[in-house]
Amino acid sequence: MAKLRTARLADVIGVLNQLFPPGLAEDWDNVGLQVGDPKAEISKILVCLDAEEVALEEAQRSGAQLLISHHPLIFRALKRLSPTDMTGKVLFRAIKADIAVVSAHTNLDRAADGLNDWLALRLGLKDSRPLEQPECGEFYKLVIYVPCGHENEVMEAVFAAGAGQIGAYDRCSFRARGIGSFRGDDGTQPFIGTAGEFEETEEVRLETIVPKRELAKVVARMLKAHPYEEVAYDLIPLANQLTTVGLGRVGELAEPLLLQEFAEQVKTCLQVSSLRLVGDLHHRVSRVAVCGGTGMSTYFDAVRSGADCLVTGDVKFHEAQRARADGIAIIDAGHFATERLMVEGLSQRLKSVFAERQFAIEVLEMEAEKDPFVTVS
Ligand SMILES: [Zn+2]
Repeated sequence: MAKLRTARLADVIGVLNQLFPPGLAEDWDNVGLQVGDPKAEISKILVCLDAEEVALEEAQRSGAQLLISHHPLIFRALKRLSPTDMTGKVLFRAIKADIAVVSAHTNLDRAADGLNDWLALRLGLKDSRPLEQPECGEFYKLVIYVPCGHENEVMEAVFAAGAGQIGAYDRCSFRARGIGSFRGDDGTQPFIGTAGEFEETEEVRLETIVPKRELAKVVARMLKAHPYEEVAYDLIPLANQLTTVGLGRVGELAEPLLLQEFAEQVKTCLQVSSLRLVGDLHHRVSRVAVCGGTGMSTYFDAVRSGADCLVTGDVKFHEAQRARADGIAIIDAGHFATERLMVEGLSQRLKSVFAERQFAIEVLEMEAEKDPFVTVS
């Protein structure tokens, strides 16, 4: 048997970034490293929904050096670090116990083979696809002309800012050599050649893809890394759509069920004793949309997809009223129950990748997490 490799925290973060690209996360999110030394050795990981004190206790008890949570431990910029607030308490304890915390949140929600695929599978949906379809113009081609020898520096900068992701592949680019020409006026300070004189120089044409939400960051980093005073680059809107990633999923039940039967199935699959729903219990359900957690932001996508029912959590009163008027059923199975299955899903994916890469890392699933809500009937 091949010898297993020692892994560092940076290796684990690298695996997570590859499986669930941080570029898929919302702008307001804070995914990735929350606390910890990237050089620290990791041999045991505990996967949980929330990095709360109870999770840290379990990590400490089991000897795990890393906690991977769905909800980020740090959401807002911290102005002080004190154990007197909820986040500070956990951070303090994590640092003292030498336990790192890494989070995979809205990137895990959107990724292929991520949380919403696991939720769709758990509920028995077939042929599921992302509910959130990017509009045309959601992606841009970035073409940059760089003097030979500087192309790697520029490429690294744009990749780090979120360019180059196509499905499960990152760092996607194309490059070709050619001759660039320019003449700066007398006030310029050209990187190559002399002001006022016509120059021809060997350049590399770099091409990569950029999601709209990362555009400003990618262009700013590219300009910073580029050696030219005046950078020649093109931003071309694309009609491409990435169909394997996006919020929510919509798929078909193996056979149509009455809403009441489907609700019972959801209860069993998500292990909840009760749920709230909107809709006629005798209506047939065959196409189902799902979105784990607070998922009513996908409501209009669910309606557009022709779904008979949307399964999610955190549904508000006026949202329920609208669904009733629109004639689409809503099952609110709770934030916790629609996301908690990420503990098992993420653990399994990590185990198989670590085995493939021969990393000596054990992955444990947090057992003691509980929904803060209890039902009294
Ligand atoms: Zn959540």
